[in-house]
Amino acid sequence: MALKDIDFNGLKDKTVDAAKDMAGKVSVVVNDTVEKLKRRDIMTAPFMIEMIRTATNMYDHGWDERNGGNISLMVSEEEVAKYLDLTAVIREIPTGFDAPTLDGRYFLVTGTGKYFKNVQYAPDVNLGLIRVKDSGRTAELLWGYTDGGQFTSELPAHLMSHAARLAVDPDNRVVMHCHPGNLLAMTYVHSLDEKDFTRTLWQMCTECIVVFPEGVNVLPWMLCGTNSIGEATAEKMNTARLVVWSQHGIYGAGKDLDETFGLIETAEKAAEIYMKIAHLHIKNTITDDAMWQLADRFNLTPRSGYLKPRK
Ligand SMILES: [Zn+2]
Repeated sequence: MALKDIDFNGLKDKTVDAAKDMAGKVSVVVNDTVEKLKRRDIMTAPFMIEMIRTATNMYDHGWDERNGGNISLMVSEEEVAKYLDLTAVIREIPTGFDAPTLDGRYFLVTGTGKYFKNVQYAPDVNLGLIRVKDSGRTAELLWGYTDGGQFTSELPAHLMSHAARLAVDPDNRVVMHCHPGNLLAMTYVHSLDEKDFTRTLWQMCTECIVVFPEGVNVLPWMLCGTNSIGEATAEKMNTARLVVWSQHGIYGAGKDLDETFGLIETAEKAAEIYMKIAHLHIKNTITDDAMWQLADRFNLTPRSGYLKPRK
């Protein structure tokens, strides 16, 4: 081929295109690496540290024997993105129920069959971080359940309760379930009427009406792990942050893990006092008048109709 036959302009264009292509690929790799380097270790995330501490504390309180209990904590996308690649879905897990208002929400959730006592030693096995999609019917796993496991069998009750609480309180972030011994015992010997149950708890410790002025709601015994108990719990969550599951345990909801833990802790303390004194001759109690004074002092509204009218 003679020199005059060579298309130097075409060759130049091809070389420029190839160089641009290469530069583009290099920039993608560089950007990916920069993003990865910017991402922090999820074990240093405040939400992860709090979750591990809370699960451990609940176990230490004797509320979560064996694989009992479960927690779901809603985390913002912004917070998750500091630690995880939001496009890297490990696997998709069907949920078996609808929760359309939760699409795109992220939850850190305890795993099914997992023991709270082990969460602190192997968080990535016992916890998982999921993103909800398809009107709640699918959970995308972004982190955790590294042994191939999945979220708690009580996810219906958790996500339906999250949806119910968010409708009442946009700041709600936590749903927590456990088996505190005295509350559970109380459901064997006390009326399950919600007003009676609440009034008894309020009368056991002065601070109860301050901590849960809306009272506690109560479900009769139901089969756990089903959509039915999930729907019933969520319905009860419309009017209170605490829902007792008779002969089983309790559900709590709140703005953060501390608040939710504290709610259950306070109700359980009241139930403990009740179980200590229920069989004794009771000489004194906290009167309705005293509770009205507390309501005024702390500027709160007790559940309507639960106290006798003011004198
Ligand atoms: Zn349970």
